[in-house]
Amino acid sequence: MKQKEISSNIQEPDAVIREIDDEHIASSTDTPLRPDAFDLSDSEKKRLIEGHFEEIMKILGLDLSDDSLQGTPRRVAKMYVEEIFSGLNPKNKPKAKLFENKFQYNEMLVEKDVTFYSNCEHHFVPIIGKAHVGYISSGEVIGLSKINRIVQYYAKRPQVQERLTMQIAEDLKKTLKTDNVGVVIDATHLCVSSRGVGDTNSTTGTAHFSGRFKEANTRAEFLNFINS
Ligand SMILES: [Zn+2]
Repeated sequence: MKQKEISSNIQEPDAVIREIDDEHIASSTDTPLRPDAFDLSDSEKKRLIEGHFEEIMKILGLDLSDDSLQGTPRRVAKMYVEEIFSGLNPKNKPKAKLFENKFQYNEMLVEKDVTFYSNCEHHFVPIIGKAHVGYISSGEVIGLSKINRIVQYYAKRPQVQERLTMQIAEDLKKTLKTDNVGVVIDATHLCVSSRGVGDTNSTTGTAHFSGRFKEANTRAEFLNFINS
């Protein structure tokens, strides 16, 4: 994916810079889950998904006695539950340990180009993107790999990019005990590039700024880091 210049004159704190819209509408910050979402065990879920996916393949006319297709329903079920949608289950949430900020580093910390793979909740095809995260420590810091893990956790859900951006920002605010958080995401939606309008060049940008990141100077510094 080509890296795009991200403009520093984003006006709204939660601005969504849409370059292309395929009627992807986000409903709320929380992933819409039913209260009984985790009543079934992972193995029960895999068994049921396997059966249903087999049905989809049969309806499409595929011959499941073929060597190459035989294992597909099981593989898809395992991949859904254990990998690409594992971030639905709070038990998989990364535990972030905070460290005292011994160096008294009070400047901005930026983790950029965190590559993630998610899936569009409207089409169940991949969203491939990069997240850029910045924060100003409240006196405690987390390991850099934890930021990466938080991004991956929320990416491993059926998503819309706006919600993914918000969920990462909200989690970091809670985890880092600070409001001074900025998140920018630049992503390619395969439902836009590989189907639908078939636009292979467009990317979608979303941003969330809170606390000091709402100030023009801080925001410009953050965006400079990202674009450098
Ligand atoms: Zn889509």
